[in-house]
Amino acid sequence: MSQTDSLSAVDFEVSATAGDARTGTLSIGETEIRTPNLFPVLNFYGGGTKNSVYGGGIHRTVKEFMISADRVGAGDYSEFFDGVLTSVSSLTDYNVTRERYEDYIAAPIKERDVFSPFSGTLFIDSGGFKFLNNDGIDGSNFQVNIDQKTAYEIQRRMGADIIVNLDRPIAPDDSHEQRIEKARKTGENIEEFLRLSSDFDGARFLTLHGYNYSMMDAFLTEITKYCSAETLCSSFDGIALGSLVPKKDDRSALIDAVIDCRRVLSDWGFDDLPLHVLGISSRAIPLLTALGVDSFDSSTYLQTAINGGYFVSLMETVNVSEADFEQCNCPVCSSDLLRGWMEDKENAPYQKDRLGAVAMHNLIVQKREMAKIRDCISRSETEPLIQYIESTVAQDKPTREFAHRVVNHSLGGYSL
Ligand SMILES: [Zn+2]
Repeated sequence: MSQTDSLSAVDFEVSATAGDARTGTLSIGETEIRTPNLFPVLNFYGGGTKNSVYGGGIHRTVKEFMISADRVGAGDYSEFFDGVLTSVSSLTDYNVTRERYEDYIAAPIKERDVFSPFSGTLFIDSGGFKFLNNDGIDGSNFQVNIDQKTAYEIQRRMGADIIVNLDRPIAPDDSHEQRIEKARKTGENIEEFLRLSSDFDGARFLTLHGYNYSMMDAFLTEITKYCSAETLCSSFDGIALGSLVPKKDDRSALIDAVIDCRRVLSDWGFDDLPLHVLGISSRAIPLLTALGVDSFDSSTYLQTAINGGYFVSLMETVNVSEADFEQCNCPVCSSDLLRGWMEDKENAPYQKDRLGAVAMHNLIVQKREMAKIRDCISRSETEPLIQYIESTVAQDKPTREFAHRVVNHSLGGYSL
């Protein structure tokens, strides 16, 4: 065991498998999360102050659910916040002043009184996706240049349980040379990241980029010029597959990428590490889970709500004005107060509250499906998960062929 291992109390235990799918527990210090699981994307700091739960429009309303605020009926929603992902880049999405930015990173999120009801696993990504595609970030009257040192400093000060190195995601139209150049810069960051975070007591995830086997293999080959494969293996606690955001609605490309990713991880000796896929659409969850992905993050619950979309199921959305709240027994739809907000915008204090209630309902639908999927895998045979996919993804015409492909590839095919 290396010195870095002994400092961190990170453990990933797989308790059951079904084909390529696996279920288990990721423990980081005192925090535990069951896998496979979904980390909803949430901005903790949205321009406001403590009195407004640090603001952020619809994000504020979701945070009020998270902390059981009186304003949203004081229900207990903590089980749906067993993991949350927030981005370093979200800190400056709201044109904050330097003073406010400094305040936001002054204390760990979970140690602030206002957020103390939140005890889930906090994943803070590096923000590379956003910053580096925009040539730096703009505050209202200051500039923070995000390099590896700054990104880690922010992750640490905000009290992350899971962090990733600062990376340079590839774009679909990058040339081979551009991809190698990005891998080289990510390699430099990884070397610095491991040095800076050697006493970090949470989990460190290595970002992996590529759409297929040869791209991911080339990426790892390039970064091992900066850090040996042995060091990567002993220092990192998980893998975060990135660069798939531009392909998040291309089911076929996602499936190819994850199948190839599992092969690359196996060939490089990383297959025991938990595999996270960054920034996907939640409808892809059942199939990617069947392929062996352990966690996801998604803002679909929020983005759908912002467009007035109410989940009838993981696969089906209706406009909230057409929703039948009687059909849902979730705590949002069961609350007279919140149903009133969703039914008629005149009832809600603000539009963000109406849509925030819808977002919370959407998140509950997703989290309940995740729990069902874990139950299927816990049975240690493929049939329950195949049945689940048949009754959900395969019922949806555009995704049926992908469901069949995944069942044949990862779950041993259909029995007669
Ligand atoms: Zn509901």
